[in-house]
Amino acid sequence: MSIRPILTFPNSLLRKRAKPVKKIDNEIMNLIRDMKETLTEASGIGLAANQVGVLKRVVVILNSPESEIVAYVNPEITHRKGKREVAEGCLSFPGYTGIVNRSISVSARYLDESGGKVKITADELLAQALEHEIDHLNGILFIDHLKVHEKLSMATPEYRPHTHDINVSVNVQGNKDEVEFNKKLYTSIGIDDLKLALDKAEILKDAEQIND
Ligand SMILES: [Zn+2]
Repeated sequence: MSIRPILTFPNSLLRKRAKPVKKIDNEIMNLIRDMKETLTEASGIGLAANQVGVLKRVVVILNSPESEIVAYVNPEITHRKGKREVAEGCLSFPGYTGIVNRSISVSARYLDESGGKVKITADELLAQALEHEIDHLNGILFIDHLKVHEKLSMATPEYRPHTHDINVSVNVQGNKDEVEFNKKLYTSIGIDDLKLALDKAEILKDAEQIND
């Protein structure tokens, strides 16, 4: 088992579509083990294979702190119900959070680690995580779902809503300086690239522009 470095936005692999797993062989089992270890090290909720640079349709999710991390192979959302707004972050955007639109519940099908076909219906955090992680496998990121909201907490810098290249509103808040990055998970180049990309995309708002 080993921890794999997590790619940060705007690494191009995060925008690629992952390929279906044909057979759950040793390579896939190793990937799953490493992804679980990486997710644990990151204290995260979910991780998609794209985020560790592997374009295979594999995600791992920790449903609750008491439960085990579960692997979902070739997962697909089959049904979505309702709409809600939730706060969300992503291990490829360490230090940033935003408010996104998500479904209230989702039904999904996937293969478990032994290749068994499973169908589930989930709500709450698991529904959110399934939507977020399956999006990753399709090259979609949580910033594509961010919703505009006028008021942000005083505790974090305020950023300007921005129309993203796929024509949705983007509004990211965060304070990189307050976050210590785990060197086992992130390279300083990756962290710098992330900040630069968000600046360049004008997703982040400068402090002096807050009131304009
Ligand atoms: Zn993510």
